[in-house]
Amino acid sequence: MTFAFLMLVWIQLAGAGQLTGYAWSPSSLPVEIVWSGTPEGLSHDDVVAALDTARSQWVDTSCSAFDVSFIEGDATSNATDGQNSLLFEDPEDEVGQEFRAITRLMPSGGRVTWNDVQYLEFGEADMVFNDGVGWMTDAEIDAGHCDDGFSFQAALTHYLGHLAGLAHSCESDDTCTDPALLDATMYWETAPCDTRESTVAMDDAWTLATVYGTPVRVGCTRDDADGTVVSCVLTEPAEAPVTWDFGDGETSTLPSVSHSYADSAERIVRACVTVEACGADYCYDLRVPGGPDGATDTSATPADGGGGCAAVPGSGSRTLGIAFAVLLLRRARRGAREWPPRPVATATNDERGQ
Ligand SMILES: [Zn+2]
Repeated sequence: MTFAFLMLVWIQLAGAGQLTGYAWSPSSLPVEIVWSGTPEGLSHDDVVAALDTARSQWVDTSCSAFDVSFIEGDATSNATDGQNSLLFEDPEDEVGQEFRAITRLMPSGGRVTWNDVQYLEFGEADMVFNDGVGWMTDAEIDAGHCDDGFSFQAALTHYLGHLAGLAHSCESDDTCTDPALLDATMYWETAPCDTRESTVAMDDAWTLATVYGTPVRVGCTRDDADGTVVSCVLTEPAEAPVTWDFGDGETSTLPSVSHSYADSAERIVRACVTVEACGADYCYDLRVPGGPDGATDTSATPADGGGGCAAVPGSGSRTLGIAFAVLLLRRARRGAREWPPRPVATATNDERGQ
């Protein structure tokens, strides 16, 4: 494999929007990632389980062609050897102390087009996890044994998102107040003992599918003065079959619907969307917080039981963010088209958020 640009330039992705501008070519899918060793504090089985979860989080939650395959072998730190590697314990001491890990993105020198948008074609990507982080399994964290460690699963899911070509849902210098972006797996920062980034949120799944597949976007908001009326809308794919289950025995199949509840308590609305392109249903639980102010705090998590390529891991689910509808859709698409291809390698450094 040849690389047009070998100089490694470290770029802050601040302001880049939700995509890095990189994408894998169809022939490179599934992306094969060679890994070896274990991070300090974790067992071989812990790593295998986390890799499986991270893959399934990205691959199964959206209608997307993106896929990865983890292969235990001889991971190499060479950025341009044509092998995608996952390394632990920062063997070349290349990860700054303030970062949990990096994903190194290397261009092939070519271009690839998905959904009529041109991206820099990936030549190679490597993930390097830092040492001295205090990695914990989510089971340990859930059991209250965190002790200021960091979720290995959260880092793996997040950095795999970078490897797919995603940037952050928000950056530290943004005025980022949308819970959908704050709660996304691709949020720029995480805190010790925080497992929220272990799971892919609807915003993450939607962004991935925006590049590689058919994006699905649904959302609900509370829209009247006393907070008893919840309005839900399917934004993408337009005219796709959708079923809303309001959790009180009522359902609807309208693309845009308002539903009256007896009170303004927090509600979970399940939206199931049939995506013909994948021949599957994608279901999301949309959380509508209680009270008339819920309109600014609507969030969602992929729901269990989708079936087919919509199957979603059932454990560890939590309420995740959903970016509501049209404004964000436009932002991401515009951003993708406006980014000039950058003829440099990019690394995604993430703050530990301590
Ligand atoms: Zn990141």
